[in-house]
Amino acid sequence: MSDHGFDGGNVLKTNESVIDDSNFGALYQSARIGNFSYQFENLPAGDYFVDLHFAEIINTNGPKGMRVFDVFIQEDKILSELDIYSLIGANKPLQLEDVRISLGPNDVIMIRFQGLNGSPIVSGICIREAPNLPVSLVKQRCPETENLSFENKDVRARNDARYQRKMEELQAQCERKTDECYQAWMSLTDMSKKLEEVTMELDNKSFQNNCLDQSMVLQAEKLKDVSTKYNREKKFWFEAINKIESKVKILKDEQSKLSRETHDCANLIPDLNKMVSAVQGLVAQCENLKLKCSKEQAERKKLYNQIQQTKGNIRVFCRSRPLSREEASAGYATVTDFDGAKDGDLGIVTSGFTKKTYRFDRVYMPKDNQDDVFADASPLVISVLDGYNVCIFAYGQTGTGKTFTMEGIENNRGVNYRTLELLFRMIEERKDAFTYNVSVNVLEVYNEQIRDLLVNSPASKKLEIRQDIGGINHVPGIVNAEVENIREVWNVLQAGSNARAVGSNNVNEHSSRSHCMICITVRARNSMNGECTKSKLWLVDLAGSERLAKTDVQGERRKEAQNINRSLSALGDVISALASKSSHIPYRNSKLTHLLQDSLGGEAKILMFVQISPLEQDLGETLSSLNFATRVRGVELGPAKKQIDFGEIQKLKLLLDKLKQESRTKDDALRKLEENFHALESQAKNKDQFCRNQQEKVNELESQLAMKADSCSQMDRQLTELSMKVRVGEDIRANLQQKVNQLEKKLIECEHVESNALQHKVKQLERTLKERTNEFEVHSVILQKKVKELEHKLERQGGGTTVSPMLRPKIQELQEKVSQRDRHLESSPELCASEQSRASTDERKDSSSITENEVNTGPGTQMLQPRKRPTGQGSILLKGNESLGQLRMKREFQNKGIENICLSNPSTEKKRSLATESNKGRHIDPTKAFARVTRTTKPFPGIQRSLSSRINREPVPMVKERESSTRVWLR
Ligand code: ADP
Ligand code: MG
Repeated sequence: MSDHGFDGGNVLKTNESVIDDSNFGALYQSARIGNFSYQFENLPAGDYFVDLHFAEIINTNGPKGMRVFDVFIQEDKILSELDIYSLIGANKPLQLEDVRISLGPNDVIMIRFQGLNGSPIVSGICIREAPNLPVSLVKQRCPETENLSFENKDVRARNDARYQRKMEELQAQCERKTDECYQAWMSLTDMSKKLEEVTMELDNKSFQNNCLDQSMVLQAEKLKDVSTKYNREKKFWFEAINKIESKVKILKDEQSKLSRETHDCANLIPDLNKMVSAVQGLVAQCENLKLKCSKEQAERKKLYNQIQQTKGNIRVFCRSRPLSREEASAGYATVTDFDGAKDGDLGIVTSGFTKKTYRFDRVYMPKDNQDDVFADASPLVISVLDGYNVCIFAYGQTGTGKTFTMEGIENNRGVNYRTLELLFRMIEERKDAFTYNVSVNVLEVYNEQIRDLLVNSPASKKLEIRQDIGGINHVPGIVNAEVENIREVWNVLQAGSNARAVGSNNVNEHSSRSHCMICITVRARNSMNGECTKSKLWLVDLAGSERLAKTDVQGERRKEAQNINRSLSALGDVISALASKSSHIPYRNSKLTHLLQDSLGGEAKILMFVQISPLEQDLGETLSSLNFATRVRGVELGPAKKQIDFGEIQKLKLLLDKLKQESRTKDDALRKLEENFHALESQAKNKDQFCRNQQEKVNELESQLAMKADSCSQMDRQLTELSMKVRVGEDIRANLQQKVNQLEKKLIECEHVESNALQHKVKQLERTLKERTNEFEVHSVILQKKVKELEHKLERQGGGTTVSPMLRPKIQELQEKVSQRDRHLESSPELCASEQSRASTDERKDSSSITENEVNTGPGTQMLQPRKRPTGQGSILLKGNESLGQLRMKREFQNKGIENICLSNPSTEKKRSLATESNKGRHIDPTKAFARVTRTTKPFPGIQRSLSSRINREPVPMVKERESSTRVWLR
């Protein structure tokens, strides 16, 4: 039947399956809960059986009394204070069956559930048509009533009273026994509870054991991990130790090698000392040599200067240019005679056969080249490097070869370039003994104005000659080009030459009207004695000396000519004054002489090239130039000297040759000494360097040794630390192993103690149960005896005429029923195990049967019909008017294996039950309906088996499972 016709309540569902109910399994997975009622209408008039199905599916873990409610059918309370959990527990079905209801036309079935504590719950309602009551049972009452009118009322009343008393006594005894049984059952329940507690405890212990097992497994895993880690680390550290050991070995080898090297070095020290002392000796020798060298240098310088002075501080070389190709082809007449040129004599054919002879320091023939010219000029370079001022200049008519002699042409360099080239070569040669700094100025004097040819801007300020504190002339603001080699010098000269060309229309013409002056300043420092010198070398290409007729020139040319004449005259005057050792030397009469002041006077050396033209047409200018040169040369020699006889000259020449020879020898000796000195110096330097290197090596080796020793000690420390760590790890492992062993021991001891305690408890319970069973059996035997005695007494009484004819059939009927029940029980093998229980149940059955008969005879009551329909073996039958106390008793009996035992509640006990059971919660409701409550749990063959099987019963794991899960959840 579908769920309809209700009022109130809610539907409740669960997934939990009901234990052991194959018939209505699905039915007990939903229920209606709350205060609700059902009303079934439109049923045809007749008798119906109503079955109610209950199952506790919410309150699965107790406790009892959480849900207590009444059940009403047709406003009659058929169940009072129903507590399903206390009766059967959770998830087990409780069936109230066969509540008989008679319906008239248009009557409805009203079923109502009312909660006393908690909400009522019902899983299903079944309404079936009831079979009609047998007519014989209805009619039985009629003869009894009729017979009663014919009996002797007194006798019957007496017998009835006696019988009533006996019955009451029996009833009282039965009640006592029932109470005793109830007490026994209660104690059994307590025991069961204790057993459950013990089971729970056992479960807890099992759980703890599991936990311990798990923890032990975890500990074992941890131990395994630790062990693996330990092994891994051990391996790693062993490898590291091996590496370190190999490193230490290498380091030790290196250390021994270094020690050997150190020893070798130490052995070398005496040799080194010897070398040092030798070097020191050499150094001392060097110092001596230096001193000697310095002296020799000074001597050489002095001698050289003496030679130069002997030659003359002012020397005049005469050079005639060759005829040009055109001149030669044109057949121009020449006036030069070079017959005495080797002796420095130059003849000039003046007119016809007249020949004038000029003597100079050197006369070059036209065929003499630039090399020949420079060979005589080159000794002055040494004088410059020795610290003397030198002035070389070319004087002569324009076009006679001044520029050719001084500058030369591209492939045939003149005195300027060659002088500087030799100068740098000598500097290079003397670099070990001297340090030189060379700077170059390039100037032009034109119209008595000085022009710097190295300055970048052409419109520079006017340059003036100043005298410094040392009395040396200088030109402030002039460009000093520092040069270090001939290439740089050449670049500077080129720059000056280019600058000279700028601003002039005719370069040759301009150059012949101005003096081109190159000043080489040499600063020397003697490395041996620290002596410093500063000397100047002037290389001057003078302006053309030709004299122009006053009428020929006007304006600028005239001014130029005047300035040139003045400057050249001034030059002649200065030289003349120098020669005559005049107190006043007129240097300042021209810019030319003023600039050349340092290099004309004092110990300065002067070299003049007088350039002449061989042509007859230039004879005048040639004679003028030669006269000027002769005047200059005559300064030194003087006309008087000229007149010295040749013997004296010869002597002087011999002396000069001797001096030259000595000078050459000394130069050679000096050179050798210098070479020796340099060789020794380099040796000493090498030794010093070697010593320093050895010392550095020793220091380096010592520092390496110290570092290696440090690293060795560090590695030793690491080794000891590692071994300590390994030892600690082993200790931890041993401790863990010990702990695991202790835990295992404890676990075994706990299990042993718990199993002993449980066995002991189980034995105690078994003993208690045995005692109770024995007591129960004794009581049952006594009851049986008493019943039999009563029966005997009744028989004795009935043997005469005292036994009521009405009681006899009843007794017989009872006996028949007892025998039937015995047979029935005997046919049920499961019930054979408990004879005593069956006996007592039979006894109760007898009494209840009587009551049933009496009740059933009443009008409006419903007939108790022992059910023959198949029910589950574990079902409990509960009549509609049974008390809950009896229900509990039935459940307890059922746990002992008693099945399908019906208890009837005598109607006569109604008041007493209400009075006594209401306080105990075992109230028997006054109801007309009879019902059977079935339970589907399987019966147990006997008490002993029940006890043992309770401990190991199948549902327990489920409960345990749930409990354990709950425990786990609670934890
Ligand atoms: P100056 O400078 O005195 O005016 P230059 O040096 O310009 O004279 O010479 C004029 C010309 O004569 C140039 O062409 C030059 O080459 C040439 N000359 C001068 N002297 C010689 C010489 N010794 N050998 C060959 N040619 C010469
Ligand atoms: Mg020139």
